[in-house]
Amino acid sequence: MIKFLDLKKINEQYETAFQTKLKSVLENSWYILGKEVTAFENNFAFYCGTKHCVGVGNGFDALVLIFKAYIQLGKLQKGDEVIVPANTYIASILAILEADLIPVQVEPKLETYNINPNLILEKITSKTRAILVVHLYGQLAEMDEINVIAHQNNLLVIEDAAQAHGAILVESQKSKVESKKSGNLSNAAAFSFYPGKNLGALGDGGAVTTNDGELAKIIQSLRNYGSETKYQNEYIGVNSRLDELQAAFLNQKLPSLDAENDKRRTIAKRYLAEIKNDKIQLPVWDYSQNHVFHLFVIRTENRDELQQYLLENGIQTMIHYPIPSHKQKAFSNWNNLSFPITERIHNEVLSLPMSPVMTGDEVSFVIEKMNLWI
Ligand SMILES: *Cc1c(COP(=O)(O)O)cnc(C)c1O
Repeated sequence: MIKFLDLKKINEQYETAFQTKLKSVLENSWYILGKEVTAFENNFAFYCGTKHCVGVGNGFDALVLIFKAYIQLGKLQKGDEVIVPANTYIASILAILEADLIPVQVEPKLETYNINPNLILEKITSKTRAILVVHLYGQLAEMDEINVIAHQNNLLVIEDAAQAHGAILVESQKSKVESKKSGNLSNAAAFSFYPGKNLGALGDGGAVTTNDGELAKIIQSLRNYGSETKYQNEYIGVNSRLDELQAAFLNQKLPSLDAENDKRRTIAKRYLAEIKNDKIQLPVWDYSQNHVFHLFVIRTENRDELQQYLLENGIQTMIHYPIPSHKQKAFSNWNNLSFPITERIHNEVLSLPMSPVMTGDEVSFVIEKMNLWI
């Protein structure tokens, strides 16, 4: 069986190093917001190229705390509208609601699955204050276009970078602008270290990156009951701290992230070059480092049939995602909204096996079976 994602194999590589980390945390006996968390915050800020990183409990909380911190700063208010891609994972939309803001969905491009910048303008109202971009499946959204729209309309831009650790926006050769990584392409970004993400912990974890020192300071406080000095509470905060042990594991894994992303890109290049089947639409990518292939997502009209066929041939696949947010039971008031491209994507997408530990033979086998499907 070719697994969709072999997490055991991924983390086994670090087993000895993880044991050393566990030992050192035990010895230190400082379990909450200790030196591993501080080290990870410094390491990840340096990696992303941002001035600040704040470790939090998970990716969802990272998003919520960004919104709540902007409310504290007076840059957002309850009831403000936030533009968000309609086909994102539901966490992006739930985070907007959790902060008492209003999500306004915009259709993606069918080819890249990312928000269509041309459709943002028509959704902007007098209440719009922010755009939550999502680098879906690991591919950067069209940040240059989006940042221009945001600038012209005085909107904040926030990245949901939960699937795009290490993706790089390479500016054109001519421009003097330096290449920038996800997490450093907007006012503030949210990352998740859920085990299956490109940088995954052995449990929950998340982080906010930003160049805004004031924002970082408020989030640092909000994640810890709104308190900077023990028993003095400046804000109505929550408990959402990055776990010390998870930070230790992440410190161990971060140096390998670029190499692992390269391995994913190598597999993606083979899929793109060698899968030849008229019934299958391959994802569009410009072959730059703007994609870290958290997922390799194809489309076909007979998606469920293809999934069954692959399973019968020992290939495990997944669907990201089977039901769009606006069609979920939880959002019954949105069920009659129509987002045709989003709905088509949810009906047609299938994620092929993709991970840094897949072997060449496994990739060949998936390609062979994809090409034999009729
Ligand atoms: C994983 C994910 C999240 C949420 O991260 P958690 O750590 O599970 O809370 C948010 N947005 C997107 C796009 C994700 O893929």
